[in-house]
Amino acid sequence: MPPQREWFEKDYYGVLGVSPDAPPKDVTKAYRRLARQYHPDANAGNKEAEEKFKEVSAAYDVLGDASKRKEYDEVRRMAASGFRGSGGPGFGGPGFGGGGVRFENLGDFDDLLGGFFGGAGGRGAGGFGRGRAAPPRGADFETPLRLSFEDALTGTTTTVAFEADRPCSVCGGSGAEPGTVPVSCPQCGGSGMVAVDQGPFSFSQPCPNCRGAGRIVEKPCRRCRGQGMERARQEVKVRIPPGVVDGERIRVRGRGGYAPGGGPRGDLWVRVQVQPHRIFERRGRYDLGLTVPVRYTEAVLGADVTVPTPEGPVTVRIPAGTPPGRTLRVKGKGGHTPTGGRGDLMATIDVVVPKKVSKEERELLKRLGSLNGDDPRKHLGG
Ligand SMILES: [Zn+2]
Ligand SMILES: [Zn+2]
Repeated sequence: MPPQREWFEKDYYGVLGVSPDAPPKDVTKAYRRLARQYHPDANAGNKEAEEKFKEVSAAYDVLGDASKRKEYDEVRRMAASGFRGSGGPGFGGPGFGGGGVRFENLGDFDDLLGGFFGGAGGRGAGGFGRGRAAPPRGADFETPLRLSFEDALTGTTTTVAFEADRPCSVCGGSGAEPGTVPVSCPQCGGSGMVAVDQGPFSFSQPCPNCRGAGRIVEKPCRRCRGQGMERARQEVKVRIPPGVVDGERIRVRGRGGYAPGGGPRGDLWVRVQVQPHRIFERRGRYDLGLTVPVRYTEAVLGADVTVPTPEGPVTVRIPAGTPPGRTLRVKGKGGHTPTGGRGDLMATIDVVVPKKVSKEERELLKRLGSLNGDDPRKHLGG
């Protein structure tokens, strides 16, 4: 590796004390100020100032040049996304490419940097040399789950099934026909990376011959045709907590996609579809609602009425003078809470007006109407 490699390991923005999006004139201003401050003429014999002056000059050499700065930014950006907290790309260490699983879509190798880091997705868990990148995580999956209204209230444990890739059951994920083993790639010597000169800098990029795997499968597994993965039905047990609402997603950690290179599996998201109920509706997570029709006489005089709950009927007292639309709260008769408590049942009163009345009722109502002195519309004026 040429010495330029250290180039993008240094924080030149930090050295000049400017932000990465600082305009060129601010970069130049910062450089001039620091250069004056640490200039050897002003700091005779001061070793520390001399070092500082060199650092500042090196930083400005890159950030002061538009094309060098662009390249520096790009490399730093890629390094930040692929090698958090590391000293920069450092491939080729022992175990590189040793994941034993081959994957498609390692990245677009026409794009030097994109391919470089995209390819990192296929690396073995143990081997980034001194790069120390965490192995990539598998993809998250989402699968729907239909739940009855009652199961959503109480919570349940069930099984979801879906089709997804998993390591091949014949080759165990190596991609090689059983009885054979992948061989070291002759082009990269098994490291998975080859050096490429790009402008003034030399980069490593995934080996095009083995696509960064470091190994070549000479006799591909017949089952997975060398891919190392096969499509299969998977069943996952999932615990649904009480109070889930329609459309909610429940996460099952580590039951999503398998990771390239032996990294952690992704998560499975179970999207809950709660079926509606004939008479009950959900009001928030733990409360239930229903409409309770009452007679005019019950609303006026008050009554004890029988109201259904998920666990059977209860008696609810309708106070005298209850107007339609009033909601009565029946404590502890709603859904279950995760801590063993209960929500409430919200009973909304509806006053039923009969379309037909008997002759006797008509007589009584007429008499009642003649007795009703209070005008309900007096506030409307007229
Ligand atoms: Zn296989
Ligand atoms: Zn190779």
